[in-house]
Amino acid sequence: MLNLVLFGPPGAGKGTQSAMLVEKYNLIHLSTGDLLRGEIAAGTELGLEAKKLMDQGILVPDAVVIGMIRSKLQQNPNAGGFIFDGFPRTVAQAEALDYLLNESGTSISGMLALVVEEEELVSRLLNRGKDSGRSDDQNEDIIKNRIKEYNAKTAPLAEFYNHQGKYTAIKGVGKIEEISASLNDAITAM
Ligand code: ADP
Repeated sequence: MLNLVLFGPPGAGKGTQSAMLVEKYNLIHLSTGDLLRGEIAAGTELGLEAKKLMDQGILVPDAVVIGMIRSKLQQNPNAGGFIFDGFPRTVAQAEALDYLLNESGTSISGMLALVVEEEELVSRLLNRGKDSGRSDDQNEDIIKNRIKEYNAKTAPLAEFYNHQGKYTAIKGVGKIEEISASLNDAITAM
């Protein structure tokens, strides 16, 4: 089973590259951001609570996203593999993911980290905000807050996976196809 964590700050290109990886390796794409936006669109209580935090660029509670991932894993017992996009975002989430995968007799194959500098991220997100319809992409203060949350709570996960020998940094700037090729090389080397 190929289970990938696609890692990187907001705007690093995780969504774009996930689409390519899903196609090439026949993986199930699990994006907690997409799942949360689905809850918001459906008008569920969970969605309403999450939206308040997401609109400020703050992470939603670990228990919420871990619960969503747990049920997705249970719904797909025969999957050939998963790509986790925007999850885990805290050490507690990463520990929970290891636990859940271990329960089903599998594990993370590797973490691929897209590296992009902050100035580039802000400009990409503001640009995306013009047509994504995402309120959290339209305000520079919210974007800065998301990057701050990333640096404080999510960036330490690089060390978490490095410690397990599963971390690979990938340059996230350049042509989309070049970045895809680097990701493919890293997967081949796993
Ligand atoms: P981006 O990577 O561009 O920030 P996402 O769609 O992954 O976009 O996330 C949007 C928002 O959803 C985050 O700012 C956060 O509030 C919430 N969110 C998504 N995934 C998680 C997670 N794993 N843990 C906590 N909050 C999350």
